[in-house]
Amino acid sequence: MSNNPYTWIDRSLSTIHRASWYRSVQTLSTRPGSIITLDGEPLINFASNDYLGLAGDDRLINAAISATKEFGTGATGSRLLTGHRELHRRLERAIASLKQTEDALVFSSGYLANLGAISSVVGPRDLILSDQYNHSSLKNGAILSQATVVEYDHNQTEDLQQKLEGEREKFRRCLVVTDSVFSMDGDLCPLPELLDLAAKFNSMLLIDEAHATGVFGNNGAGCVEHFGCTGKELIQVGTLSKALGSLGGYVAGSKALIDFLRNRAPSWIYTTALTPGDTAAALAAVEILGQEPERRAKLWQNVISLKNLLKSNLVPIADFESPIICFQLKDASTALAAAKRLRKQGILAPAIRPPTVNTSRIRISLMATHELSQIEKLVEGLVAINN
Ligand SMILES: *Cc1c(COP(=O)(O)O)cnc(C)c1O
Repeated sequence: MSNNPYTWIDRSLSTIHRASWYRSVQTLSTRPGSIITLDGEPLINFASNDYLGLAGDDRLINAAISATKEFGTGATGSRLLTGHRELHRRLERAIASLKQTEDALVFSSGYLANLGAISSVVGPRDLILSDQYNHSSLKNGAILSQATVVEYDHNQTEDLQQKLEGEREKFRRCLVVTDSVFSMDGDLCPLPELLDLAAKFNSMLLIDEAHATGVFGNNGAGCVEHFGCTGKELIQVGTLSKALGSLGGYVAGSKALIDFLRNRAPSWIYTTALTPGDTAAALAAVEILGQEPERRAKLWQNVISLKNLLKSNLVPIADFESPIICFQLKDASTALAAAKRLRKQGILAPAIRPPTVNTSRIRISLMATHELSQIEKLVEGLVAINN
């Protein structure tokens, strides 16, 4: 027996390599946009969460620079000690106004917002019903809460109802948890049905709008707005790091909920506040959402263009209802080979594979800043993989 207690790490890494699960970082050396330089190669970028093209926008950059000059780089403390600035409150008011909720609370990331919200509103005597495809941060928030977690089949409200019928009355509180746009599949949760079921079983509902904020709804408020559910009582979580082009996360909801989280959410209380620069950039982005609906319109135009081109080129892809599109492939090595082929043609559309998802695929995400010619090149690449 080896007396080095760390040798297992090399063995585990070999297993990861053998399964084609190994990942490593690549260096992006340009501003974010529809064309980027990645590891020295110019590529058309179909792998970004920057749906509206705001992460490289001069207005966000200048907002971050001015706030940094005025208030410094670091927030220097948690919000309850020395980390709070008026900028944080302005951002929270802007988010609450976008979502039409009574209040909002900004966290240092979307991941931390989910950990904090879930672990604060339920505990060991409670039940969480969680969609099987939920994001890692929702799953880990559920574990952290020590509630009993029951997964229901992806987007299957009948399965959810059965599980509520079987389990709900054994517990004190119950929280139904779901992504609104599923990050790896791009499909939408059946929000109105989930709200009905939650109400019927005296359960709270938490919805993660990470990929929907800025993208869905007439005002870009997300799937809650898209489904006409604005004003219903629920817990909305999201990120400032996708369509809003900055860094950070938020919870939006009732005044009481937000006040409670300020007093109970460990991932808000015991961490350093969002930097002035990130806060100011996110605030600028929320303002642009309201001023420039044409960005959202262009994004959706691109979704339609891609649909039409795939159809006319007979590329077999299941219908899609968001700017996230998946091209399913039979296994991890096939998906990796396909991504490599696309990359040779100057297209960045990565393979997503286990353990992130159950089935391997090429995942494409569209942005408002894509040109039609770039989408045409993507379709040519997908046609080639298919042949
Ligand atoms: C990206 C993402 C998060 C995490 O947000 P960050 O701000 O990047 O930490 C949470 N939930 C979902 C569904 C996401 O896609």
